[in-house]
Amino acid sequence: MKSGIWSKLWLFTAAYFILIFVNIHLALLALICFSLPVYFLLRDQKKSWCQLYCPRASLLMKIPRSKNQPLRPIPAWLIGKKARQWVVRYFILNLSFIMMSTIMVALGRMAPMLIPRFLILFPFNVTLPQLVSLDLPVWLTHLSFRFLSMMMTSTTVGIILAILYRNRTWCAICPIATLSDQYLAK
Ligand code: SF4
Repeated sequence: MKSGIWSKLWLFTAAYFILIFVNIHLALLALICFSLPVYFLLRDQKKSWCQLYCPRASLLMKIPRSKNQPLRPIPAWLIGKKARQWVVRYFILNLSFIMMSTIMVALGRMAPMLIPRFLILFPFNVTLPQLVSLDLPVWLTHLSFRFLSMMMTSTTVGIILAILYRNRTWCAICPIATLSDQYLAK
C-alpha cells in the first residue's frame, strides 16, 4: 500500500508551502485538504483518505531515521483519548476563530491579520515574498493567512512528533482521524 504513487504524495504538501510564495491566496487550497477526507469517508464509509491518499502521512514517512537508533516509546498521555479530544477541541476552536474573524474583517469591524501564527497564539512577523500580486478583498487575504497558519502549525507539530517518536505519531492525534473514528463508530 505504501509505495508507488503514495510515496510521492508528500509533494502536494511541499507544493502547498511553495505556492504561498507565488500568492498567499493559494493557501486557500487547504480547503481541499479539509474536504477530501470527508468526501472519502462519506463515499467509502472508511478512512480511505488516511489509508491511501493523505499527503501529510506521506510527508511524515519521509522523515529519515537511523536504523541503529532505538525508537523512543510514545508517552501514553500524548496519544491517549484525552489528548485526541483536546486536539479536536483545538481544531474546532481554531476553525471557529478563523470563520468569525473573517466575517468581522469583511464587515470592517476588525483589522485583518496578515501574518501567519503558530498555535493561534504566536505570531510570525514576516513579510512573505509574493511572485504574483492579486487585488482581492482583504478578508480573503486574512482567511488565506489563517488557513496557512493552521496548515503550518499541524505540519510542524507532525514533523516534531515524527522526529521525536515514530513517523506517523501525529496520525494518533490528528483531528481528521479522531472525527472520522467518531463518525464510523455511530
Ligand atoms: S490521521 Fe491525519 S495525517 Fe494521518 S493519514 Fe489521516 S488525515 Fe493524514
